[in-house]
Amino acid sequence: MGSKMSFDKPDPDNAFITLCREIDYQEGPLSGIPIAIKDNISTAGIQTTCGSKILKGYIPPYDAHVITLIRSAGGAIVGKTNMDEFGMGTTTESSAFGPTTNPVDPTRVPGGSSGGSAAAVASGLVRMALGTDTGGSIRCPASFCGIVGLKPTYGRVSRYGLIAYANSLEQIGPLARNVRDCALLYSCIAGYDPRDGTSLDLPAPTPLRSEIQGKRIGVPAEFFGEGVDPAVASVVQSGIQRLEELGAVIVPCSMPSMRYALAAYYVTSMSEASSNLGRYDGVRYGQAPDTVRSWHDAYSEIRRAGFGEEVRRRILLGSFALSAGYQGKYYAKAQAARQMVRDDFERLFESVDIIAGPTMPTVAFRLGETSDPLSMYLADILTVPANLAGVPALSVPCGTAHGMPVGLQLIGRHFAEDEILAAALAFEEGSA
Ligand code: GLN
Repeated sequence: MGSKMSFDKPDPDNAFITLCREIDYQEGPLSGIPIAIKDNISTAGIQTTCGSKILKGYIPPYDAHVITLIRSAGGAIVGKTNMDEFGMGTTTESSAFGPTTNPVDPTRVPGGSSGGSAAAVASGLVRMALGTDTGGSIRCPASFCGIVGLKPTYGRVSRYGLIAYANSLEQIGPLARNVRDCALLYSCIAGYDPRDGTSLDLPAPTPLRSEIQGKRIGVPAEFFGEGVDPAVASVVQSGIQRLEELGAVIVPCSMPSMRYALAAYYVTSMSEASSNLGRYDGVRYGQAPDTVRSWHDAYSEIRRAGFGEEVRRRILLGSFALSAGYQGKYYAKAQAARQMVRDDFERLFESVDIIAGPTMPTVAFRLGETSDPLSMYLADILTVPANLAGVPALSVPCGTAHGMPVGLQLIGRHFAEDEILAAALAFEEGSA
């Protein structure tokens, strides 16, 4: 039996691009729970823009696999959330629909690129949301807004219907105010889907438990290196001490590949983006040219007008990294560095169960503070390693610095979502 609800709430943080006012839902584990969806996940009949002018007015004819699953679990999809254009950013300021603000302090950004999803959850507009994480885009806004966010193992959640930014790195995952809700939404979206060639057929997630006793937690020195705000570092250090008091064994360790992780991430993600974004011609939706000209001129004009500055920068840099003569110098090198990151995780996970550290090196920036792209890229240093290796990672609230939330990041072995969620629940309960 289907039920109906209406959703008509003010949105002071500009968390949503599109709101659905009348919502149908079914019976199920998510029955009637308001859920917000990042605007790069296809929703049949609901505009999906990726935060870009070039997709304005695009209404997908089909649902992403995760949407089919949420609908059949009874979730009430209330709208599509704001994001950095095509997921390219750490602040949600690069959206063509204006920035989202942080519900904790509206003079600051919510993080990105899933900033709208995080703000909608943190402000209480919805109970849970879906984001996507290519290099930190679920964990960063979770950390900045003081909520929980999980990036699943690569292959655990189907990407069918996700509009691609960098296919080899990204996963869809849940954001929620607590570990229980985060695990609930995760359990509804994880699973095999033959329509995603990288999807894996594994047993369903086990029921959430609280468990930390005897777990070996590796703390890489590099996670507290240069660029990490000392106030953030000290909040996370006391969080790690709390894990120890709860029965975990803390193991200081080292991840030398961290030196190359950020460069490997940006070369890989921009290369994949330049190829993925080649498909946008603005002919059927988005910006259409007023005058008919040669195909070449029209195409250039549409793309120049339809994409924002950051997206254009990445298409250019990515095309350069892939061009003949430079591929070996950049793309191939990035893949070698990516392998070093994978090897480091594999080696560490022989002697530890979980790796812990800060999610972000700082608290939420002020609006406009990261106008220099390089300084914005540097903020991703602690989140990109998990994407490069495909391992699961989450951010759980750990305390505050400068009056703003700080997230503790827990990284697990491939397919050990259950284990990091169990540790996060123990931490959350222990901190309460
Ligand atoms: N900030 C990173 C980037 O700009 C990560 C984005 C993401 O995970 N989508 O690429």
